[in-house]
Amino acid sequence: MGIIDKAADVIISGGLVAFPTETVYGLGGDGLNPSASERIYAAKGRPSDNPLILHISDISQLEPLVKEIPENAVRLYEKFWPGPLTLIFKKSAVVPYETSGGLDTVAVRFPSNAVAQRLISASKTPIAAPSANTSGRPSPTRASHVAYDLDGKIDIILDGGACDFGLESTIVDVSEDIPCLLRPGAITLEMLRDVLGKVNVDKAVTDMLEGGELPKAPGMKYTHYSPNADVIIVRGERQKIVQKINELIADTDIRLKVGVIATEENKYSYKGCEVLVAGSIKEPEKIASNLFKMLRKCDHHGIDRVFAEGLPENEIGLAIMNRLKKAAGYHIIDA
Ligand code: AMP
Ligand code: MG
Repeated sequence: MGIIDKAADVIISGGLVAFPTETVYGLGGDGLNPSASERIYAAKGRPSDNPLILHISDISQLEPLVKEIPENAVRLYEKFWPGPLTLIFKKSAVVPYETSGGLDTVAVRFPSNAVAQRLISASKTPIAAPSANTSGRPSPTRASHVAYDLDGKIDIILDGGACDFGLESTIVDVSEDIPCLLRPGAITLEMLRDVLGKVNVDKAVTDMLEGGELPKAPGMKYTHYSPNADVIIVRGERQKIVQKINELIADTDIRLKVGVIATEENKYSYKGCEVLVAGSIKEPEKIASNLFKMLRKCDHHGIDRVFAEGLPENEIGLAIMNRLKKAAGYHIIDA
């Protein structure tokens, strides 16, 4: 029996399998089995009001999970599935509330990663899979990240190498008349608007919410992606960012180990700190795919405070800055 069939048996019998997708590694269980969903929450230490995404490997699996398939959903999935896009629908009775975090809606994605597709097909059930990290930590983009967080708590880890995109899927709510972007990702707001015209953006995508405000994606209210280091974003004109970060380093208590998450272009410009190169400003997709690895590296290098160069918030930059702002608890300094 091959490893994928073994992993599918684990899913069918209510166990947990970590597997690669094109976004990040997922922690999978049978999405229609309430006790499998409960095991996922327990392994991650994830709050149970933070719903799970159901992963399918064929469009025909969508219909039984949802009350209706709106026209906007069809336009999006015809263009972007299989791929890094999650759609929110009104859920059918088939989906347990344990999986939907108590909501009457359900999140569905058809991933493009071949291992993910084979695992879902062999399991013959939609697989509920949040990112395979301990809740609050940066999402895993390599099997070793999963093992670091969850070894001993789950049954199997399928190693498919590094994830292509490295940021979680774009989430769009298509359950209401005007679609709404709840979480930015590799399918950008510009790409969504090209297909749909009008798309709203949930405030939680760009801004810190005030007391009493709730994001439409429950998970967006939690602290996220945090290394042990304090993360501080410095944004503004490219040259001013470098100058400002060097000033901030000079002002930092010398007992603290300082790091900078830098672009390739600026890597030699920082003094008296550890420089973590995320990628070239000309290739923001590379920066996106390296970001979580950089945040995890801060811990491995014992960094106490890390300054991150801010990026323009368009195209994939919107998703990168969304994750960075959460890692920084919205600690942003304008250069
Ligand atoms: P993760 O799989 O760890 O990347 O997290 C899944 C994200 O999808 C979280 O931010 C959830 O809050 C969000 N999500 C899942 N289901 C729904 C839903 N029905 N409505 C809104 N957001 C959802
Ligand atoms: Mg997650």
